[in-house]
Amino acid sequence: AQELLLRTEKLSVVSELAAGIAHEIRNPLTSVKGFLQLLKSQALENGIYYDIMLSEIDRIDLILGELLLLAKPQIAHFQRKNVCSLLKEVVTLLEAQANMCNVQIVMKSAVDDIYVTCEENQLKQVCINFIKNAIEAMPDGGELTIQLEVEKETVSIRFIDQGVGIPKDVLEKLGQPFFTTKEKGTGLGFMVSKKIIENHDGTVHVSSEEQKGTTIEIRLSGL
Ligand code: ADP
Ligand code: MG
Repeated sequence: AQELLLRTEKLSVVSELAAGIAHEIRNPLTSVKGFLQLLKSQALENGIYYDIMLSEIDRIDLILGELLLLAKPQIAHFQRKNVCSLLKEVVTLLEAQANMCNVQIVMKSAVDDIYVTCEENQLKQVCINFIKNAIEAMPDGGELTIQLEVEKETVSIRFIDQGVGIPKDVLEKLGQPFFTTKEKGTGLGFMVSKKIIENHDGTVHVSSEEQKGTTIEIRLSGL
């Protein structure tokens, strides 16, 4: 199993992000502009151009939506929250998608009251991102175990999938903005999630074995 402790690289992430955003937004925008110019010059009746423009605009929207999660919430709303209940809500939200992919989500926790101080919506979004990645890593279905554990004052949330795993070269790039191996991926979910957890003074650890599965572990202070 490969173990990688993902480090904080605040400054480099910000500048990579700036460059990445500029490129990623410019590409679909250029495409939309091109098709609009075509329509203008030829007054074509072909609806496909409209479809392309709409899907490109949707993509910009998806990317910006993920990035906006990184923006500081208007009012810092850090509260004591029961992570067991928070995870149950998130799982309920994603159950339909999991079922469709033949993925069974199993929650394992010795106790059902584990508290952390968090920005609830952000922590939920992080869990959604990791669960979605796990589901997407199991195209033929499988089990996703969500394990909750408290050791001393540290709360661990582990997302253990039985998916394709992460090859070493991908593992090295994980966390870089816009790095994706998926045709329709944004490559933002993991980076945004890691940043959110770091903003909570927590850490994200990844261990993975190809063809066996991946474990993503969040560690937060339970104090
Ligand atoms: P996206 O899901 O849009 O591709 P992410 O930032 O969420 O972007 O993930 C980046 C890449 O990391 C994915 O494209 C995938 O290759 C890899 N990855 C993340 N989580 C997993 C996982 N649980 N199993 C296998 N690969 C993963
Ligand atoms: Mg993702």
